[in-house]
Amino acid sequence: MDKKIVYTVIAPIFNEVGNIPELYRRVKETMEKSGEKWELLMVDDGSTDRSTDEIHRLAAQDEHIKPVIFARNFGHQIAVTAGLDYAQGQAVVIIDADLQDPPELILDLISKWKEGYEVVYAQRSERSGESWFKLFTASLFYRLIYRITDVNIPMDTGDYRLLDRKVVDVMKGMRERHRFLRGMSSWVGFKQTGVLYKRAARFSGETKYPFKKMVKFASDAITSFSYFPLQLAMYLGFLTAGISIIAIPVVIVLRIVGLHAFLGQATTLIAVLFLGGVQLISLGILGEYIGRLYDEAKGRPLYIVREAPSIQK
Ligand code: UDP
Ligand code: MG
Repeated sequence: MDKKIVYTVIAPIFNEVGNIPELYRRVKETMEKSGEKWELLMVDDGSTDRSTDEIHRLAAQDEHIKPVIFARNFGHQIAVTAGLDYAQGQAVVIIDADLQDPPELILDLISKWKEGYEVVYAQRSERSGESWFKLFTASLFYRLIYRITDVNIPMDTGDYRLLDRKVVDVMKGMRERHRFLRGMSSWVGFKQTGVLYKRAARFSGETKYPFKKMVKFASDAITSFSYFPLQLAMYLGFLTAGISIIAIPVVIVLRIVGLHAFLGQATTLIAVLFLGGVQLISLGILGEYIGRLYDEAKGRPLYIVREAPSIQK
């Protein structure tokens, strides 16, 4: 009888050719120490370098490696989602392929899991080798998310975490298109805990999150878990209406006493532009939510695979 797979490691890969062999080596070394049967799902998110070949090469020589090859680039969060769909382990670990998340920490995540925790997230105590811009935007992002969403997303955690089978099964049922996985894995509840670690610099290559992807990621996170931007339009509405209600008697009184303040085109123009701006921003915010509604309504598959493991349950 074949032993059952206990641990699945999921690594999303987008043009990480320089990292794949080292990732494999360190994950293998760590997982062998766990003493249980494991698998490493390498999800190729439409790489255009030689990552796909590299995954195939390793999979041919070690059956622990299971390739999931996408038909095109669908994005990091979707790649991890595919990993969750194909994972067979009782505990599933999500890890970045660039070795910023040290694979050796998996053993610490596992020991917390054995204590009975169902979500064990790795929390960064330090990060090195990243630009001040990245650090600043990341810190701003986590604090903003923390304030305006109702789910308690722990500060400074990435997707590096271990999920129990129960959590994975719940998350597999959450088929939303614009995904913020670390929010989703907090939202489900269960027993959660964190393990501190030092986030390393990338082993090889450049970040695959250019500014545009970062903005999309942040707006997916916010719209998935908060109505605050929608309410913002209302708050601004009350504010400007409030200002104008105060302004009416002020202007009348000024006129009566003979002071000719607030005359001329400039004042009018500024007021019109200000209100026009506020209205357009509100419309844009509405658009962000409506576009996402439309995407959900279309009901397309989250991703398309060219190649994936056949799962025997
Ligand atoms: N990634 C992906 N698809 C993308 C962008 C990134 O699968 O469209 C993967 C990437 O290969 C890496 C992980 O997601 O394994 C995190 O990306 P990256 O390290 O570039 O993000 P950063 O650490 O700079 O935030
Ligand atoms: Mg990285």
